[in-house]
Amino acid sequence: MFKDNPYESPQAPQASPAAKAKANANYTGAACPNCGVSDARSPRFTLWGGAIGHRILSHVICNGCRKTFNSKTGKSNLGNIILYQVVVLGIAGTLGAMAGLFAWLG
Ligand SMILES: [Zn+2]
Repeated sequence: MFKDNPYESPQAPQASPAAKAKANANYTGAACPNCGVSDARSPRFTLWGGAIGHRILSHVICNGCRKTFNSKTGKSNLGNIILYQVVVLGIAGTLGAMAGLFAWLG
């Protein structure tokens, strides 16, 4: 008789609690260091890096536990983020100081 549900796609089974630690075929980076899931996405915007910082640092958000990490190393990106902040603020500070100097020189 009706063994298969005609309304259900056999290629795309619905998410079940058992399929928690599944891998995303579209994601090619390292697995999450916190929960081990190979499924993460790139954020659109970060507070520390704006719209481009996460691209420079391969920064991704785990789709399993929402932790952020480096998709190349599979480790926390905190050290890189601090370094990024120092560099960005250093450049901004230098430019600001130069602009102030030129304004002062008139
Ligand atoms: Zn995770």
